[in-house]
Amino acid sequence: MDGGDDSLTRKLPVTIRGIGVSRGTVYGQALVIDKQSVVIEPQLLSDERIPAEVTKLHEAFESSRKQIIALRRRVSDMLQETHAQIYDSHLAMLEDESIYTKTIERIEKDKFNAEYAFDRTVKELATMFAEIDDPYIRARGADLDDIYHRVMGNLQNLHHESLTNINSPVIIVARDLTPSDTANMIGQPILAFVTDKGGPTSHTAIMAKALEIPAVVSTNNVSKKVETGDQILVDGKQGFVVLNPDEAMLADCREQIQKRKQQEAERLRLRDLPAETRDGFRIELAANIEFREEIPHVKTHGADGVGLFRTEFQYLNKEKLPSEEELFEVYRQVVTEMAPKSVIFRTMDLGGDKLASFMTGQEMNPYMGLRAIRLCLKHPEMFRTQLRALLRATADHKARLMFPMVTRVEEIREARKILAATVRELRSENKPVARSIRVGTMIEIPSAALTADILAREVDFFSIGTNDLIQYTLAVDRGNQKVASLYDPLHPSVLRLIQFIIDKAHEAGIWVGVCGEMASDPVLAALLVGMGIDELSMGAVVIPEVKALLRSITLTQARELAKEVMRLPTGEQIREAVEKRYRQFRQAMINDSSCM
Ligand code: PEP
Ligand code: MG
Repeated sequence: MDGGDDSLTRKLPVTIRGIGVSRGTVYGQALVIDKQSVVIEPQLLSDERIPAEVTKLHEAFESSRKQIIALRRRVSDMLQETHAQIYDSHLAMLEDESIYTKTIERIEKDKFNAEYAFDRTVKELATMFAEIDDPYIRARGADLDDIYHRVMGNLQNLHHESLTNINSPVIIVARDLTPSDTANMIGQPILAFVTDKGGPTSHTAIMAKALEIPAVVSTNNVSKKVETGDQILVDGKQGFVVLNPDEAMLADCREQIQKRKQQEAERLRLRDLPAETRDGFRIELAANIEFREEIPHVKTHGADGVGLFRTEFQYLNKEKLPSEEELFEVYRQVVTEMAPKSVIFRTMDLGGDKLASFMTGQEMNPYMGLRAIRLCLKHPEMFRTQLRALLRATADHKARLMFPMVTRVEEIREARKILAATVRELRSENKPVARSIRVGTMIEIPSAALTADILAREVDFFSIGTNDLIQYTLAVDRGNQKVASLYDPLHPSVLRLIQFIIDKAHEAGIWVGVCGEMASDPVLAALLVGMGIDELSMGAVVIPEVKALLRSITLTQARELAKEVMRLPTGEQIREAVEKRYRQFRQAMINDSSCM
């Protein structure tokens, strides 16, 4: 029988389940990134082996140096120079004689193998850095960590490729990815990513959507089961990974890729049509962005503007605080490229899982710690630098700004005071500033939601951050896979809070949007419109789909849906009701191709 041998040697498919957080199906080779898995065994060398270990260390340093130089060039070509500067400090640290000579000493005098000698040297230095009370020096710990993994990878011949130095298309498999890791994915030939950790609204999931990379998170230790070079298939919608997929699975995957391409082409035809229900109710559909580089993408998907610019990403991957001029340049490009459409800048939301290297001092519970507006009010100089850049960049453009993680009205008042002082300061320097800038607040904490009537008197608009609102209302960490099944946007408490916020905003005569991930699910978008929302802001890629659905329904239908679900007692029953309606809406949409 033909191929008998082959069928004996071929490995069987293994399915690993997780949570699909960014749609799309792909297959390809895995690249496993596991920074934690370096195992270092101490060995005592015989005298004859010492020169060989010294040469090994020298070569590992030399390879690391070349890799960093290549990486720097690549990042600077593809992104802005500022993204590349971090590699200068890596290089400086690598070239600093003390790490190298101390390690050599440990090899020659103590007769330790190169890996162990290097490990000891770096750990000693890291402890020293951690104890120094200068935030700049302590932040060097992050650079040291990077250098450590690079040199160790070269010593152990692991050839761990950095996320910014990938040459052929791969599927990234990792225990976890930080927001900085995903930021480094821009422009890389990455087909998908799969992680052991993470939840549906973790920042890595959000970034994957923004970059249109299929992703599955919260898998059962995928990084231990898959090895670099393995052929895997990723389904980012259903949320599974198949190791060693068979030919039938691959054929199915190819068919889905083809189908998706056709659907995407059809959806893009919607680009210039308004997001309007069949009975003429117009909803603003805006895009969420983290980087200026996403703007062309925002435009091709027909966004009405940028509804959330997560400005904190300009602070990540940086060794020190960005200057006013650096920020000004990014903001100016964003408003110019988006003109005449408007941009909502959210002031930096650092903290939680978005930690900049200059932020020091670990917090036990960072999501409830010194995050976002709290951090800004504690460090008004840093806040003022951002506000100066924002006010200058938006002087001649349509822009608004909003504050994240507000829990009490005093925070808005204090932030507005600093804003007003910054406007006066810029005017006294004869710098151009917008005559007036609309100021809003995010509502993403239950205390803010429940005082929406009070907050509404202080601002021009609300934007509901459902990602955090859900986690704080339900006491479910948005990034913790152990409780991912409890993270429920349709929990009656969440819907009641949203309804309360909408009603109080409208009573006060201000508009209210949603910029959390809830807005990007077409099923939930219809429900939110029925509840009275004025604007929805989401990853650009889903705008056409949400628009198609809203164009196929009436406001009356959406309101009926909202009325029906508000009476139901459990999230599960609400989901059933919403999905039943969604199937009807979709059928109507397919039958009436004019909305497509
Ligand atoms: C949110 O919390 O819903 C939100 C949009 O903010 P982020 O996801 O950046 O915390
Ligand atoms: Mg938030």
